Amino acid sequence: MKAVVKFKDGKDGWEIRDVQRQDPKPGEVEIKIQAAGICGSELHLYHDNHSYTPPVVVGHEFCGIISRVGEGVKSWKVGDRVVAENHKTVCGACEYCRTGFPVFCTERRTPGYAVDGGWTNYFSTPTRTLIKIPDNVSYEEAALTEPCSVAVEALCERVPVKAGEIVLVHGCGPIGLLNAMVAKAVGAGMVIITGTNVDKDIRLPIANKLGFDRVININETDLKKEIMEITDGRGVDMIVEASGSEAAINSSIGLIRKRGRIVAIGEVAKPEITFRWNDAIFRGCSITFSFGATYKAWKYSLDLMSAGKIDVKSLITHKFPLEKWEQGFKLMDSKESLKVLLVPEGSTVKID
Ligand SMILES: [Zn+2]
Ligand SMILES: [Zn+2]
Repeated sequence: MKAVVKFKDGKDGWEIRDVQRQDPKPGEVEIKIQAAGICGSELHLYHDNHSYTPPVVVGHEFCGIISRVGEGVKSWKVGDRVVAENHKTVCGACEYCRTGFPVFCTERRTPGYAVDGGWTNYFSTPTRTLIKIPDNVSYEEAALTEPCSVAVEALCERVPVKAGEIVLVHGCGPIGLLNAMVAKAVGAGMVIITGTNVDKDIRLPIANKLGFDRVININETDLKKEIMEITDGRGVDMIVEASGSEAAINSSIGLIRKRGRIVAIGEVAKPEITFRWNDAIFRGCSITFSFGATYKAWKYSLDLMSAGKIDVKSLITHKFPLEKWEQGFKLMDSKESLKVLLVPEGSTVKID
């Protein structure tokens, strides 16, 4: 079967390869992949700014249909539509595994980075990672469960949005837009999202179409002035940092109300940044880092899609056959896309 493989450092370290289809091990199921998203973190991998274990089949945002079940599997059957949480290997015994946070297990091996992932035709995984896709959720939508779960984890588990609050989301890439959607869905009174001139053609227009209360291009508008006008000089209740921009992170301290909450999700491109520490202390604001997602957040993401509370389909700008994976990266690099899906041969997902 065909697979997109990162086999060594450098941009020439990628290729479509023929790889062996593996039998599911006892306790595992094999998923026939229907659609797989390209994640911002994979763009970092494309540029060699992400750790991985070569050679590895890339891809951690995927969904599909169970094609085979391994020995001893009882509660899942061929034909079940599923997504898989991205922790194929964990120890199952450490503090984090036992308290529902396998994402922090030191034995965790993530598909697409440390073990083979889903940019291929078939992927096997233990049943403890599986979640059923609701009947009214399409494979295209389900492929966005992983990035959506990151937003749900941040805004429903780590720093819950309270009814009526004013939430500012920095960054209008897929993660920013998903956070803005989730904030609205769980009761924010007003959702404001920011972007820059590079987002002008694709991302800001989609943000506008999704109907957020304010969509602000910070290269054209004085953000601080605008926020102070909107909030009568008080500042917003909550900021979601999904831009990864040092300037945006520092501007947050001037935009948040006293005792407001900042939740940080976006990775910055360098190992250290400067931060207005004292200003943050004097405002008494809290800053929480949110990483990955728990089972609950994965499940709620699918439930929010099923209930029609979030419109993840609007984020999909491109669908390509698996072989055109590099075109997807190029469009992401130039910010000419939002979510790009790769569709392997044999999938029922239509490429238009
Ligand atoms: Zn991802
Ligand atoms: Zn563990």
